[in-house]
Amino acid sequence: MQVYRLPILSDNYVFLLHDRDRNLAAVVDPGLASPVLQQIQALGAKLTAILNTHHHHDHIGGNYELLQYFPQIKVYGGSEDRGRIPGQKIFLKDGDRITFGDRSATIFFVPGHTKAHIAYYFHPTKPSETGELFCGDTLFGGGCGRLFEGTPAQMLASLNKLQALPDCTRIWCAHEYTLKNLQFALTVDRDNLDLQHRCTEVKAVRSRNEPTIPSSIGLEKSTNPFLRCTNPSIQLATNTTDPVETLARLRGMKEMF
Ligand code: ZN
Ligand code: FE
Repeated sequence: MQVYRLPILSDNYVFLLHDRDRNLAAVVDPGLASPVLQQIQALGAKLTAILNTHHHHDHIGGNYELLQYFPQIKVYGGSEDRGRIPGQKIFLKDGDRITFGDRSATIFFVPGHTKAHIAYYFHPTKPSETGELFCGDTLFGGGCGRLFEGTPAQMLASLNKLQALPDCTRIWCAHEYTLKNLQFALTVDRDNLDLQHRCTEVKAVRSRNEPTIPSSIGLEKSTNPFLRCTNPSIQLATNTTDPVETLARLRGMKEMF
């Protein structure tokens, strides 16, 4: 399965999944239809599914137009998003499995950013492959999504689910927020050498206007403060030893940053 990263709007990524052997495509969070239509045309592939992570417009804005072209495609989303995702036909719960080509994905219910947010984890099928995580606006490079509908406790539980995946898992998040997130991270975790190193690297990558996505679970565990709510340095910076409160305060500090 090949993943194509399509930049849209100011800082969103749409991901097009391509199964070369069967020439099938699926799209994750099509905020716009036109870049998706262009890419599937270039590949000569058949679009079979839309995988939505949550109902925000920058993630579903292209659903309706894609359905005009391809009325038969399956539209997946979270069961709690019923009525909020255009064309949704399949309502997914935590632990559900879906298939695309020869790959299968497990659904994680990850409320926090919204009350209905889900993530798609495509399992590797052989040792040479990595798992692929599509986590929308839950986990970002160096950060996490804002809490629009969920609580800090929900977001912490959601992030804990995701960070239990293998370190080599590639993370395809929906926004290019990494540099700003890491600059904030340095204010609460300044002695973290991995973080310092990553920040330097990401600055160079962004100065060349290149993407920082995909990231990996291993990299996020060592540098993302929102995955380090039990770490003594982060707890010192947030002045609490309670992990939920640590996350809540980090989120508040990030909003002011
Ligand atoms: Zn969102
Ligand atoms: Fe978004």
